[in-house]
Amino acid sequence: MRRTLYGPDHRAFGESVQEFVDRYVTPRHEKIIEQRFIDREIWKQAGELGFLGLEIPEEYGGSAAGDYRFNAKLTEVLSGVSAAIPSAFGIHVDIVAPYLVHLTTEEQRQRWLPGFCTGDTVTAIAMTEPAAGSDLAGIKTTARQEGSDWILNGSKTFITNGFNADLVVVAVKTSPEKKAKGITLFAVEKGMEGFERGRKLDKVGQPESDTAELFFSDVRVPAENVIGEVDRGFIHMMTFLPQERMNCAVSNIAHARALFDETLTYVTERKAFGQAVGSFQYNKFTIAELSTQLDVTQAFVDACVAAHCDGELSPADAAKAKWWTAEIQNKVLDVCVQLHGGYGFMNEYRIAQAWKDARVTKIWAGSNEIMKEIIGRDLGL
Ligand SMILES: Cc1cc2nc3c(=O)[nH]c(=O)nc-3n(C[C@H](O)[C@H](O)[C@H](O)COP(=O)(O)OP(=O)(O)OC[C@H]3O[C@@H](n4cnc5c(N)ncnc54)[C@H](O)[C@@H]3O)c2cc1C
Repeated sequence: MRRTLYGPDHRAFGESVQEFVDRYVTPRHEKIIEQRFIDREIWKQAGELGFLGLEIPEEYGGSAAGDYRFNAKLTEVLSGVSAAIPSAFGIHVDIVAPYLVHLTTEEQRQRWLPGFCTGDTVTAIAMTEPAAGSDLAGIKTTARQEGSDWILNGSKTFITNGFNADLVVVAVKTSPEKKAKGITLFAVEKGMEGFERGRKLDKVGQPESDTAELFFSDVRVPAENVIGEVDRGFIHMMTFLPQERMNCAVSNIAHARALFDETLTYVTERKAFGQAVGSFQYNKFTIAELSTQLDVTQAFVDACVAAHCDGELSPADAAKAKWWTAEIQNKVLDVCVQLHGGYGFMNEYRIAQAWKDARVTKIWAGSNEIMKEIIGRDLGL
């Protein structure tokens, strides 16, 4: 179906992202999977091409595109490679960027943003803890003030880019008695004493991204590293979560579409009982249903991206886009595995890896159940 979201500039941008993928990512894909992180040279190359600073003002080295469709295009093209690569880049470009642009002081922007744009400073965001994921108000990592510094103690888990990040935006309780109203965001930087990473976590899928535990043991963080206002961290996070959810939605549907297209080729070529397996009526109807679901879902996601560009995307619509695309992505990939027969269960087939990669999209960045909570609340329930 013809999409109207993108204009010529977005399409040209998409072509340059595809060139970057073909030249720098695909040749190293196997190595990235083995080492379980994206090489710094790839980050720097992305920086050089202007992909990392899409939301960063020009005076700090960004392109300040001021148009989320460029972010969406970047995510879409990267999702054609795998699900984890757009996730690692998305954390930096889509998710951390707004915190560092909109909540920071001039001094902080000058200190952090140039490296952010070049890929010298890779970032992560750490909200989840071993005992608190969905219930963010329940986090236990604390900071107490000592002079003008803050002393951080606690731990985080499942943090994307966590193993290699140079700067991590960390959600911390500064006034535990105030629950959600007592959370502050800190920039914790590589090399700060008492800041340690655990192992790279052994995930079921998404091997390209480094997902790690983080430990804070009396980490002294200067007041200059507080992001936004003290005790307003929860509100800050809620402000930027719709963009995080759009990043997920755009990636989910693009990933599903890429694998659906590959499967279509497969079922045309693979024969059983003397005919292409896609031509049996049962399979033909199943594929027709998936094709319909992909198109309808894409139309909703595109409408949400357009609304986000106009500053009109509601948290409930972002939640709808996130959970629905996760559902459709998993459904599409499950059927695609089935259509590949035994080959669909072999790790050497991309569909098998994609199927494993997709499972987490119903869990992370706010699970499907939490998305439905948000929608239900919006309906007054
Ligand atoms: C690969 C990966 C990467 C991640 N990257 C990051 C990252 O970069 N930064 C970060 O901060 N976090 C990250 N996360 C964490 C992720 O956001 C959490 O795992 C997610 O929010 C769920 O939290 P939890 O794992 O603690 O599950 P829990 O909160 O313990 O939930 C367990 C189950 O209970 C359900 N549940 C919880 N509350 C309710 C409710 N009110 N109603 C109905 N059901 C409910 C959940 O939906 C889920 O099914 C990542 C996770 C993974 C797996």
